[in-house]
Amino acid sequence: MTCTLSVSCWRIKWNTFLLRVGGVAALSLGLGIASWAAPARQTDNSLRIYFIDVEGGQATLFVTPAGQSLLIDTGWPGNDGRDADRIVAAARKAGISKIDYVLITHFHRDHVGGVPQLAERIPLGTFIDHGENRETTDAATVKGWQAYQALLATGKYQHITAKPGDALPVKGMQAMIVSSDGALIDKPLAGAGQDNPYCKDAEQFPADTTENLRSLGTFITFGKLRILDLGDLTHDKEMQLMCPANKIGKIDIYIVSHHGWSQSSSPAFVFGLTPRVAIMDNGAKKGGTPSVLDTIRKSAALEDLWQLHFSEEGGATHNVAAEFIANPDGPDAANYLELTAHPDGSFEVFNSRTQKSKPYSAE
Ligand SMILES: [Zn+2]
Repeated sequence: MTCTLSVSCWRIKWNTFLLRVGGVAALSLGLGIASWAAPARQTDNSLRIYFIDVEGGQATLFVTPAGQSLLIDTGWPGNDGRDADRIVAAARKAGISKIDYVLITHFHRDHVGGVPQLAERIPLGTFIDHGENRETTDAATVKGWQAYQALLATGKYQHITAKPGDALPVKGMQAMIVSSDGALIDKPLAGAGQDNPYCKDAEQFPADTTENLRSLGTFITFGKLRILDLGDLTHDKEMQLMCPANKIGKIDIYIVSHHGWSQSSSPAFVFGLTPRVAIMDNGAKKGGTPSVLDTIRKSAALEDLWQLHFSEEGGATHNVAAEFIANPDGPDAANYLELTAHPDGSFEVFNSRTQKSKPYSAE
C-alpha cells in the first residue's frame, strides 16, 4: 500500500514500528485494522466538526484543540426539543459540557429556532449574529427572532454583532466573518483575489429579499485547512464574493450553503472555490436540489460530496453513493457526520451510520 501523509498511513507506520520493536504484533495489527472502522482519531491537536442532523436545518459544532466550541446555528424549534437534544448529544460526544459561542447565521426558524430549547439543556456563552431581523413580514421568522431576543434580554449571555472582516474570539482556530447583514468583505482574503475564470457568461441573479442574503458567513482556517460556511447566503451575494475576482480563494471544505437548495451554490461560485470535500446539511425533503448536487460533483478538485440525508428530489441519479450519506431513504435515525481535521491539512470524515471513516491526505 502506498503511504501518503494521511492519518491512516501514520497509523500503519506506527503499527509497523511497534511490530519492529517486537512483542506486541497481534495487538498492534488489531489496532491498525480497527482504526479503519472506528470513529475518527481524536488527538490533542485536532479540530472536530460535527454535522448534526436537524432535518434540513443547520447545526454544525466545532470543537477546537484549545477546548473551545463554536456552534453554527441551532436547528428547528418544537418537536419536544429534538434538535437541541441532538446538539447536546454531539457536545457530549465531543466531551464538552458548555458551548462557548453560538453563531446564528440568520433568523429563519431552521437556524435560530432551536435556541430557547438548547439554552434549557446546556450552558451557552456568547451569541454572535448579524444584528436585526430584516424579514419583518414573515410571522414565523418574527416569532423565532422574538424568542431569541427574549433569551438575550435575560442578560445571562454575551452578545456580538459581527461585521465582515471581524475575527471571532474562538481559540484554537481562526474564524473570520466574510458576510453579514448583506455586506461582504471589501478586500480579498490573504492569497485570494485572482480573476475567477468561471464568471464569464455566468448567469446573473436578482437580489434576494429575505433573511438568507443577510447570512453571517464564516471563513475558518485550521493549520493548512480552509473551511467555508455561508449559512443560506444566496446566488446574488455569492456572485459579489466571487466575480470578477475570487475574494475567498480556494478552499478545502465547503459546508454547502442553504442545504443544497437551488438558490445558492451557483457554478461560478462552487467552481471558483474548488473545494476538495463538500458536506451538505440537507433533509430528505429539504435541499439537495439535483442541479446543485450535479454542480458540486462536477467541481474540478472535488474528491467527495457527503450528505446528511438522501435527497428525495435528487433520486438515484443525483444523490451520492450510500456510504457518503448519513441518513439514507427510510426511517430517520439522526445519524451525523464528523470531520476531524489535523494541522497539516489532513482530515477524516466519519459517518456515524456506517461507523466508517474516510481519510484525506494533506495536499
Ligand atoms: Zn436554512
